[in-house]
Amino acid sequence: MTPTLDTPLSDLPEVKAADERRLTHLGLITVRDLLFYLPFDWENYQPSKVNDLQPGEQARVEGTISKIVAKRTPRRNMQLTEAVLIDDDDAGLKLVWFNMPFVAKQINRGDRVAVAGKVQGPSRFSNQLEMRNPRHERLRSGDEGPRGLHDLMPKYHLTKGLTSMRVAFLVAKVIDLADQLEDPIPDEVRARHDLLPIGEAIRLGHRPENEQEWRRARQRMAFAELLELQIAFLLRRREMAAEEATRIPYHQEVIERFKEGVGFELTQAQRRAIWDVYKDMDGEVPMNRLLNGEVGSGKTAVAAAAVAMAHAAGVQSVVMAPTEILARQHLAKFRTYLEDTFPDLRVELLISGQAAAERRRVRTAAASGHCALLVGTHALIEDEVELSDLGLAVVDEQHRFGTEQRERLRNKAGRGRPHFLAMTATPIPRSMALAMYGEMALSVIDELPPGRTPVETSVVAPSRREEAYELVRREVAAGRQAFIICPLIEESETVEARAATAEFERLRQEVFPDLRLALVHGKVRDKDGIMGAFRNGEADILVATAVIEVGVDVPNAAVMLIEGADRFGLAQLHQFRGRVGRGSHASHCLLLVDDPSEKSLSRLQLLSSVNDGFRLAEEDMRLRGAGELLGARQHGMSDIAMQGLFQPQLLSEIQEEAERLLEGDPDLEGTALLRDAARRRLERTAIS
Ligand code: ADP
Ligand code: MG
Repeated sequence: MTPTLDTPLSDLPEVKAADERRLTHLGLITVRDLLFYLPFDWENYQPSKVNDLQPGEQARVEGTISKIVAKRTPRRNMQLTEAVLIDDDDAGLKLVWFNMPFVAKQINRGDRVAVAGKVQGPSRFSNQLEMRNPRHERLRSGDEGPRGLHDLMPKYHLTKGLTSMRVAFLVAKVIDLADQLEDPIPDEVRARHDLLPIGEAIRLGHRPENEQEWRRARQRMAFAELLELQIAFLLRRREMAAEEATRIPYHQEVIERFKEGVGFELTQAQRRAIWDVYKDMDGEVPMNRLLNGEVGSGKTAVAAAAVAMAHAAGVQSVVMAPTEILARQHLAKFRTYLEDTFPDLRVELLISGQAAAERRRVRTAAASGHCALLVGTHALIEDEVELSDLGLAVVDEQHRFGTEQRERLRNKAGRGRPHFLAMTATPIPRSMALAMYGEMALSVIDELPPGRTPVETSVVAPSRREEAYELVRREVAAGRQAFIICPLIEESETVEARAATAEFERLRQEVFPDLRLALVHGKVRDKDGIMGAFRNGEADILVATAVIEVGVDVPNAAVMLIEGADRFGLAQLHQFRGRVGRGSHASHCLLLVDDPSEKSLSRLQLLSSVNDGFRLAEEDMRLRGAGELLGARQHGMSDIAMQGLFQPQLLSEIQEEAERLLEGDPDLEGTALLRDAARRRLERTAIS
């Protein structure tokens, strides 16, 4: 069989059933998928002699195996494979593999092998340098050098049971097909930006001769992906511009009344955002705007101002939130902001936790037009919910909803499309927001309402844990409440839940036996109930996993203690911190670290001096990569494209190119491949 680009990987004779499972897990189904799966990094294994090896360096050595044994360690019951390699100068290198018993079956005494790995100093029991878990290859007589172990070894993103060498081996089998790939980027565009043709980029991406080639390959791939995305956004904007919305005309007296009744002076940033929204809504093209402002920045008031204007225009609004407790909080806020000022503006709540009769009553009010604003959860998008005249749809924490859910909400409008406002508390630097949410207009609230006491933030070394607990006790004694966040465990929600339960038991029995503790994690059924009870003061301390992230307001909470803080991103820690400091009292955020290294401490120290979520997010992107920021991965963006997000210059070049292409050829007839790629991307990534 001669494979083609569309051949399923499972049809390749080299791909075993186990491989297939693992490749599928990585989203690699066809030969084409595999070709596009470029390594994210390289290990550089320079060929070396044992006598020249330095501890700490990466190297590749060839020699003969003089001894190899597989055994079990007595204490921890690990499988240990130990070997000695003798090179051509008769110098010995010790090799150790942990839990890889198959190695002893693959190589025997007397075999000539190449090994590559990091060199370690001699252990206590020998005077030889060693390599742990080195990559290895048995050399066959007649071969000049290793076939699979090159100087540059690719590092692929993997899944359990798969090695980078295995991926490289499979790639090698199909790499020649890269020449059959058609290039979606026209020659002229490639020339303008000095980009490699697709086939070459794929080849060099997998098998570069040097670092520079690899970078060029990646640059090309990032450019293509981001260009597709930008084109997709422009197409999308154009489509939206062709849709009709009910115009919501601007009335000065509505905003005047709103300002008087809302109960506080709007911040500059809030006013700017409200103005953006009003301008959009006062047009026939549906608004499609993202409101980005960190926790506590007052996004709700902006949404309420929009609702007031919609109401004045005689259309209804809906606000959808991801949890019942948030929906209830919204209900309360919208009522305070609006109902006294605009007596005929009725706000109702619709959640599945309500009694059937109540739901029926609210549905009738919505369908008859009596209710001007319907606040709720997913319950809003159910089929039996009808609105008489929907003009504005608002989604809070927009990333928590799927495209389809948002779409269903927008389709509740009888005619045309409602104006759409999405809100998110994840601070996203502007350049990145443009690249990721380019089909939406962006408003940023970069200012907190005045009068907030900044949360006192300190990094706590493991040895000082007791002092942190002491502070919790003191605050509880003063009538306040505390959050304790358990470390992030990425393995699975079940593992994380188990760990959180264990920590909860330990805290309850050993540390705070006299206090009232509650626990909430991803596997808890009644999260809302527990959060609600905590808010009502029924517990002193809420032990939680990261599920607590979503904006629950507990004004009496004064301490946020975060275990294993070094495992979280700065932006996320900042979000946690935003859960306290909402009342008038001074609040504390305690960052306990597992890894008290200089690097992790100095990263966390930033939180004590910087209080701006956007700056922290940028810092996060720089230190940990864009994927850590919520969204990018869900967005289906490759790591390569995500790195492009750090290059504002590149991004604006790409945006210009996208505009140029569409201007010259509005339907992209001449670049059908690019158009189709863009459309596919849009289907996968559209948030609106
Ligand atoms: P978020 O952006 O997290 O949704 P909210 O809209 O819930 O923030 O606002 C947080 C709190 O700040 C609320 O209690 C709100 O009433 C209050 N608030 C909002 N804007 C202002 C303002 N301009 N001045 C004073 N308080 C404000
Ligand atoms: Mg909010």
